Amino acid sequence: MEYQSTRSKDYSCTSAEAIKEGLAKDGGLFVPGFFPKILPEEIEKMAEIGYNARAFNILRRFLTDFTDKEISDSVNAAYNKTKFETESITPVYKLNNQVYFLELWHGLTCAFKDVALQILPHLLTRSIEKTGDGRTAVILVATSGDTGKAALEGFRDVAGTKIAVFYPESGVSGIQKLQMTTQEGENVAVGGILGNFDDAQTAVKQIFTDEEYKSELDKKGYMLSSANSINWGRLVPQIVYYFSAYCDLLKSEEIKSGEQVNFVVPTGNFGDILAGYYAKLMGLPINKLICASNKNNVLTDFINTGVYSRNRSFYRTSSPSMDILVSSNLERFLYDITGKDRVRIKDWMESLSSKGEYEVPDITKQKIKEVLWGGFCNEEDTLFSIKDTFEAYGYIMDPHTAVGKNVYDQYLFETGDDTKSIILSTASPFKFNKDVLEAIRGKSENTDEFTLLEELSHLAGMKIPNSLKALKSKEIRFPDSIDKAEMKEFINSKLKL
Ligand SMILES: *Cc1c(COP(=O)(O)O)cnc(C)c1O
Repeated sequence: MEYQSTRSKDYSCTSAEAIKEGLAKDGGLFVPGFFPKILPEEIEKMAEIGYNARAFNILRRFLTDFTDKEISDSVNAAYNKTKFETESITPVYKLNNQVYFLELWHGLTCAFKDVALQILPHLLTRSIEKTGDGRTAVILVATSGDTGKAALEGFRDVAGTKIAVFYPESGVSGIQKLQMTTQEGENVAVGGILGNFDDAQTAVKQIFTDEEYKSELDKKGYMLSSANSINWGRLVPQIVYYFSAYCDLLKSEEIKSGEQVNFVVPTGNFGDILAGYYAKLMGLPINKLICASNKNNVLTDFINTGVYSRNRSFYRTSSPSMDILVSSNLERFLYDITGKDRVRIKDWMESLSSKGEYEVPDITKQKIKEVLWGGFCNEEDTLFSIKDTFEAYGYIMDPHTAVGKNVYDQYLFETGDDTKSIILSTASPFKFNKDVLEAIRGKSENTDEFTLLEELSHLAGMKIPNSLKALKSKEIRFPDSIDKAEMKEFINSKLKL
């Protein structure tokens, strides 16, 4: 399988090169040349096998320059009992006859990003080897909270890698911050950025295009690589759980073979929902992909008007991993929906960075609406949905998942579409204990993170995830808050480059 760039023609590379490079040299994103089709009979067979075998089946169709052994070793290193608290890896919870939650947060850091970031280091180190490159990978990550911790856990002490993570200092939850500042491992560094997620992401992107810095590193035997959701090695493992959820519903006879379902995806950088679109292109019977945003509703406006504009206020919300104004992976979606119109994509992306906006023509708008339904949910309604769903079903959602549930309810009300719908549950409620408790029983005096975990556990009748419980006794290793301008120095000194 050949990989191409979204921005210029005649760009062709292998999956190992795409994973190693992260971002194409022309500034575009890597995309597979085509999407292999999976027939309904094959999906039925996949219902009979476990998560790892499903993952192997999907990955080998895209990573054609990897051997079967390389793929299965990577899959097994990522998805096992030491990394996930459930054997089914991404279990499906039935809420009622029409609505299901795909729980993606049973990994070490309690957010869906573990599913991709546990396997990425194995794909990346193999990619570096396969391309005959002996350098050490230096992973740079800008995070709105969950990616950073998941990447740190995924890359921690993996030979041939070092990792630096930057998060917006006052844009993450108390638990998220503790998870990162206490990170263990010899090859890791963490810095709090004075600014928001977009500031952190822009600054990291600038380092990636800083040729002088890169050649300096190259001389010392290092290469920069990304673990953000623009990396193909992050996206491809996410396609798996869309198939897996469908297979689980087939197996439990909730749906019939070939029956269409909707997926509802709490969205930020557009990576997760893009993986769902790719699953649809491969033949998974998906009716609508429902794109759920929080108060930062740039995608809702885009889907409904065709104008993408980042010239708007930025809000900090209780779903910080979705506090994003530039959804990078949308570029890949537009690339496909316009029939690979690279000239246009390049224009739009240039307009986005110079003017802060672009508009797509009517025909593109229509095509987008055939696939996506966009909605958003403000802070009050997010908290209301948590309470309402708990009172009706005894099921507790984190704020990101609650945005998804709220937008699904809006969709149902507006369209009356009774297609069975799977809401992606993207984080454990324990990770956002304070807001979840506040939603259910009102404000409390208590602010100690660990007391809050106990209280939530009591209320929900759920066990506190081991990895969060363990934070209590960990030492703060990375208290630093840094200015964007100091990032390179910080990386060099902390990672001893
Ligand atoms: C990252 C994240 C999202 C958004 O996913 P994207 O791929 O950026 O759209 C939603 N919920 C949680 C909990 C996340 O960590």
